[in-house]
Amino acid sequence: MIKRSFIGLTKPLLKYEALDVSTPEPSVIQPSKKVTLFLDKVFDFKDKILFNIGDKVKTGQKLSYSENSDAYVISTVTGTISSIAPFNADYGKTYTAITIDVSENEEIDEQFSTLVKEPDIDTVKDSLAFIPGNLPAGLFPSTDASPPIETIVISGVDCDLFITTNQNTVLVDGQAVKHGVKILKQITGIDNIIIVSSDHLMQDAGISGAEVRVVDPEYPASLPHLIMRDVLGQVVPAGKNCEDMGVSFISAEAVASIGKAFTEGQIPLYKHFNLIKKDGSSTLISARIGTPISDILNAFDVTLNEKDRLIIGGPMTGSTVYSEDFPIQPDTDAIMVQDRGNIPFVSDYPCINCGECVRICPASIPINVLVRFLEAGQYEEAADQYDLYSCIECGLCSFVCVSKMPVFHYIKLAKYELGRITTAEATNA
Ligand code: SF4
Ligand code: SF4
Repeated sequence: MIKRSFIGLTKPLLKYEALDVSTPEPSVIQPSKKVTLFLDKVFDFKDKILFNIGDKVKTGQKLSYSENSDAYVISTVTGTISSIAPFNADYGKTYTAITIDVSENEEIDEQFSTLVKEPDIDTVKDSLAFIPGNLPAGLFPSTDASPPIETIVISGVDCDLFITTNQNTVLVDGQAVKHGVKILKQITGIDNIIIVSSDHLMQDAGISGAEVRVVDPEYPASLPHLIMRDVLGQVVPAGKNCEDMGVSFISAEAVASIGKAFTEGQIPLYKHFNLIKKDGSSTLISARIGTPISDILNAFDVTLNEKDRLIIGGPMTGSTVYSEDFPIQPDTDAIMVQDRGNIPFVSDYPCINCGECVRICPASIPINVLVRFLEAGQYEEAADQYDLYSCIECGLCSFVCVSKMPVFHYIKLAKYELGRITTAEATNA
């Protein structure tokens, strides 16, 4: 729910969508012809990849990239691989896109069912990296130099507006979350597990066996940095992340997926997400990871016209995608369709120094000054002198900007460019 105030009188009140507890089960959509799986590895034609075009795959089968890489995906359908190609996502992310044509008869791969008897950390890392809700890599520090994780925070709340994925998990999958919590304790040895919940789902969250803490219903209270500050009483310094403070965040959906994997002996394949239509209505959907957005739109009679916009994620932090073939991924929490007439106007007007963004920024960043350096491409100065890395990526600055500047996107671009420079310097060294 968005209530925009008169700019300058009070700050806008942005409330998270509170799940209606009488909500029916999500609508289940099946992929009509194909799925596309994004394997988190830069594709290189010279690599000796362990699967080929024409290979037949079963549902639940692990597809590893190469002998020298830990990267893999889990096939969410039975079918034939029809394409393997590089895919460039936004902000420089690069994947290997594997397209599988769906067969009529489904065959289930049995490999995981032989591993489930005694859950251990290797089984989770080697089989469940592609589960609905996304398994956070930071939960398992890769080097001894990384600080140990001492607290796990389960997000039973949703990170953007109009989204109810994690709330729904807390409400209807309490037993799976409870089993997932038990497994997490067993394989990590971490006893300090907290679940953050909205007020109206506190009792449901309590089923998990984790310590329940309540999060304010006003956006952006459920972003990890603010949960760290407001719920755990720890401030994450600029340039650091929650794992650096010994805290790993995991979605309630991912915890439920771990629980289900070990009780049912099969890797979960269905991602829950909200379809936010042009009229602002939001519907909870369940579809196999890899299902193209076009199948979802067809199932709900949503027509895309020229210049309409498709967004993956919520209205404050989502990213535009340019093809209906784009697939549902393990961390897709929403698909939003904006009518061309309702797309927020973005301008190249200059900053008028009104200070609205500074007043609303939860990280107290001097955005009115920062934005001048970002516009000039002076990213290092922006980071060194004007707190670029304190940004927690809530998007509120863009939302309130009187000049309609895409401030949030400038910030994301600057962080990406600086990250690219740092990586290139490290490689050259
Ligand atoms: S996105 Fe904008 S408002 Fe939000 S923390 Fe970053 S600079 Fe501040
Ligand atoms: S960036 Fe936008 S909101 Fe911030 S001071 Fe400039 S005009 Fe005002």
